[in-house]
Formats: sequence, C-alpha cells, structure tokens
Amino acid sequence: MLVSALIVAVAAFVLTQIAIFTTTIYLHRSLTHRAVTFHPLVAFVFRALTWVSTGIRPRQWVAVHRKHHAHTDTTEDPHSPVVLGWGTVQLKNVFLYRTAAKDPAIVAKYAKDLPATRLDRLLFDHALVGLGVLFALTMAVIGVVPGLIAAGLHFVLYIALSGSVNGPGHHFGRRTFAGHSATNLRWLTVLTAGEGLHNHHHAAPTSARFARRWSDLDFGWWVIRGLRTARVAHVRFDDVDALARRAA
Ligand SMILES: [Zn+2]
Ligand SMILES: [Zn+2]
Repeated sequence: MLVSALIVAVAAFVLTQIAIFTTTIYLHRSLTHRAVTFHPLVAFVFRALTWVSTGIRPRQWVAVHRKHHAHTDTTEDPHSPVVLGWGTVQLKNVFLYRTAAKDPAIVAKYAKDLPATRLDRLLFDHALVGLGVLFALTMAVIGVVPGLIAAGLHFVLYIALSGSVNGPGHHFGRRTFAGHSATNLRWLTVLTAGEGLHNHHHAAPTSARFARRWSDLDFGWWVIRGLRTARVAHVRFDDVDALARRAA
C-alpha cells in the first residue's frame, strides 16, 4: 500500500515537472518572449510534450500571457491579484485563463505570429486526445488505477502551481526590481523550474535566464544552457540586470 502510494506520488511529481519545464522553457521563454529559439526537432519535442502534459494550445497561452505583461496590475490584466486579490487568482487561475484564451480577439491581437498550422488542426488542437495519451502511457507504466490517480493528481498540481505564479507570485515575496507587483518566491522557484523568480522576469521579460546568480536555482535556465551547449538552442538575451537597466 505504502509502496503504491509512493509510486503514484513520484509519477505525479514527474509528470508535473515535465509539464512545468515545458511550460517555462517552450511556452514562456521561447514562444511568448522569443528569448530562446530551438532546433526544429527540439521544438517539436516540446510541442508534443505540451500537448500530452497540459493540453494547452500554445497560441492561446502566449496571447493570454503577453496580455498579462502588456497590462500588468490593471483591470485589463487577465489574472491580476492587484485587482482580484491573490487568493482569487490562486484558486480561479485556470478559469481566468480559459476565459481569456477562448476570446478570439485576444488571440488575434497578441499571438499574430503563431497561426494554427495543419498539424495543430489535425492533432495538437485536440487537447483531450493528448491528455488521453498521457493517461494511457501512465496507466501502461504503473498500472491502471495508480496511473489514473497519478495523471489526475498531476493536473491538480500543475493547475495549483500555475495559479501560484500568477497569484502569490504577484503578492508575497521579495521585489528586487520596483515598478510592478511581481515578486520572487524561493519555494515556488524550486517547484516551477524558475518561474518563481517572477520579479526578475517582469523586469526583464526577454531574458531566457530568470536568475541573477546561480544560487537563484533557475532550473529551467539550466536545461536551456545544456541545450545551448549541445548547439540545439540559441539564446537571445540572458542578463536580467542589463535588460532591467535598459528598460528602467
Ligand atoms: Zn506576472
Ligand atoms: Zn512572461
């Protein structure tokens, strides 16, 4: 019983981390902010992982997030804790996201550069198929019931942590850079592959590295740096301080 519970917990954690690394590296740092670009094969792997581990349509995620940056801390922000309160954003983040993502005007305005491709229409736009693949694979590896529980738990964790970046990540924690509500939260940084360095990110959105020093533990950046060493990633900017100074 204890072993089964441990297997479920580890599987859920691994699935959530796959989704989180894909979200921060591919959806966020690459597609949204163009801070890093990848070899087409690597980009395809990230695209497929996004499909199975989150079901998210990248053009929608990119549009909602670009709108968040364009209107941070205002009523136009799709998920502003300053306007709605951090608790509401933490709990309702997924609904706030879906409301904005389903608005074709937002997608048309903020994700012009990401039109739906043929492959999107054929395969990747079908979120339920992707999620079905994830459930099937997990059940095949660790068994039907444990697989169902682990995959389900993964979505709860992923949704909760995404809400934490947008809610508590704009309320609690330290602010290295002034001028916006975003904060740095160490526990969130460790659990979200660097996304908890949200204050740094808002100060320098086009930096592929969210950390200012290695001890900031920006694990997403560590993967990008590895891919750059393997010559399958091109980093446009990686210096938070320089970019923040330029923007100030
Ligand atoms: Zn933010
Ligand atoms: Zn961003």
